[in-house]
Amino acid sequence: MNKPVMAGNWKMYKAPADTQAFFEAFRPLVAAARHCEIVICPPFLDLPAALESARGTNIQIGAQNLYWAKEGAFTGEVSGPMIRSTGATHVIVGHSERRQFFGETDATVLQRTIAALESGLTPIVCVGEQLAHREAGQTEAVLCAQCLNGIAGLDAQQFAKILIAYEPVWAIGTGKTATPEIAAEAHSIIRREMRQKYGDQAAANLRILYGGSVKPDNAKILMAQSEINGVLVGGASLDATSFAKIVNYQS
Ligand code: PEP
Repeated sequence: MNKPVMAGNWKMYKAPADTQAFFEAFRPLVAAARHCEIVICPPFLDLPAALESARGTNIQIGAQNLYWAKEGAFTGEVSGPMIRSTGATHVIVGHSERRQFFGETDATVLQRTIAALESGLTPIVCVGEQLAHREAGQTEAVLCAQCLNGIAGLDAQQFAKILIAYEPVWAIGTGKTATPEIAAEAHSIIRREMRQKYGDQAAANLRILYGGSVKPDNAKILMAQSEINGVLVGGASLDATSFAKIVNYQS
């Protein structure tokens, strides 16, 4: 049985010195955590400080985006091999802020996911509906389209290595968390789609993280849903005590 993944997305917050200070406070608070995998995704510039601070611990480090070419004349971009060469192990792909502000589409999500896998990184592929979709009863259709167009182009070996994060856009940074039941229902739609494409065993092994205003006081109830195999946390991952409480949701 795969362990749950408790991942933090720092977005565009913290400089290297803040990163070091975070890890000094965070490391002892999660040193005993063996029930889950812990991943922190800081901005690119903080990767060396994060990796240095996490060395020898149970904390893994990821990036928040990558470009699909390995190298070339792509000013401002960072490739999978570059990220992997730092020692980072994970990368977020297709976060809703990338889709909303930077023109990310299902097709580019697939390109980035393949590039991540080819570089030896574990992609955390984000999907999720907007509020207007949910209000119009289109949640299932949107999730199915994102799975079909953004993920189902992977072969079985590639699929076995990815993590999916279900992040309803209306719950990100808004303080509105999906109820555990809403989240579990969305996760089961995603798992069903993946089962149809990749089969029972692959779908059962797939870890689907929930993201959207996860806080210390709702982590336990979300994680109690068998469909929820971890969390992707934005705001509450910036504070060592608060993210440690989420990681240690069982206690
Ligand atoms: C996120 O950025 O992936 C996220 C879920 O943010 P927040 O936890 O702040 O809603």
